[in-house]
Amino acid sequence: MISAVCPRCKEPILDEAVLLWNDRHYCRSCVEAISPDLYTFATEGGQLVDLLEPDDISVSQYWRRFQFKVGIAGGLLFLLPLTVMLIRNNAPLEVVIGFQGICLSFVMFYCWWISCGKVKHFRTHLPRKVVLERLHIKVVTPDGEQTSLLTDCQWKPGTSSADEVLFATSLKQGMTIYTPDAVINCGHSSELLKHWCAFFRLVELPVYTPSRFQNFLSLVGGGVAGYLVGLLSGKLYAIELNNPAWEFLLPILGILDGVCLVGLSIISRKPSSKLADQLLHPALWGAEFFKMGGSLGFLAGFRWGIPSAIISCLICGSINAIIGGFAAWHFRSQLQLRKKNLVLRAPEKRESKAGYRYEV
Ligand SMILES: [Zn+2]
Repeated sequence: MISAVCPRCKEPILDEAVLLWNDRHYCRSCVEAISPDLYTFATEGGQLVDLLEPDDISVSQYWRRFQFKVGIAGGLLFLLPLTVMLIRNNAPLEVVIGFQGICLSFVMFYCWWISCGKVKHFRTHLPRKVVLERLHIKVVTPDGEQTSLLTDCQWKPGTSSADEVLFATSLKQGMTIYTPDAVINCGHSSELLKHWCAFFRLVELPVYTPSRFQNFLSLVGGGVAGYLVGLLSGKLYAIELNNPAWEFLLPILGILDGVCLVGLSIISRKPSSKLADQLLHPALWGAEFFKMGGSLGFLAGFRWGIPSAIISCLICGSINAIIGGFAAWHFRSQLQLRKKNLVLRAPEKRESKAGYRYEV
């Protein structure tokens, strides 16, 4: 049955109505105001679909767009100090150049090998088909089918490096869709991309705008706050334990902890809640924080010999692991609470400004 009211203009539909992929009827003038082509496309039964096939990705592409740069950066990191050392020891120029050549070739070969493995891995998850139908975004891969309610998704024009397969393909990456489960670069066909974007604009699907500058500022703020806490407690520990090393090391740990804690809260606000959920595993962050606290604790205790260094490593690492694990647990519970609220929202409340109703 055709709903009598257009979800966009809220007026009774007088001209030809068209059923769109969110299962609602819109009046012709509203659709044509966004894009005249969209109306024709929809009335002719067009499907919003995007396909990435195994043949669309290649090792050379992945190598050129990603691993080559990693290779250059990694190669330089090792080569520079070694070259300086060779020159200082008065090694002949041809030895230095030959040495650099061998090292770089080795690193590049290694990166090529990694690229082959990565692309082989990507191919096992392809073809990937993204299709929009009946208010749901469906992602079909050989691993199975993921279906997300359109109202739980966000989008933005352009690419996102969160979908790593993008480096392996030369296809156009017109837009990115953020479902609760995944970040997917699509919009490979210019013709269809036009319709995807017009439809998302018509239903006012939220545009994901990662506030990079704001995130950067909060990371800096976290570092500064951590530094101050570390400075204060460092002074205290230096006096209590009669070990000045703490005064120097705890502010460093404070900066690392502060930046990581803010990073965790940023991850918990990502639109792809399932990925964030995996990333925020408390054991993972407990271990990371243990490594940071443990290594600085080891350095601090080293002044009194190895046994003292190990004890100090274990104590400092464990306390830091509790901080990291607890923070990850906290942010993960907040994320899960938000997800639960989303699911529990009554169907009629799903009627948002986007004007689509949950009625499947
Ligand atoms: Zn209308």
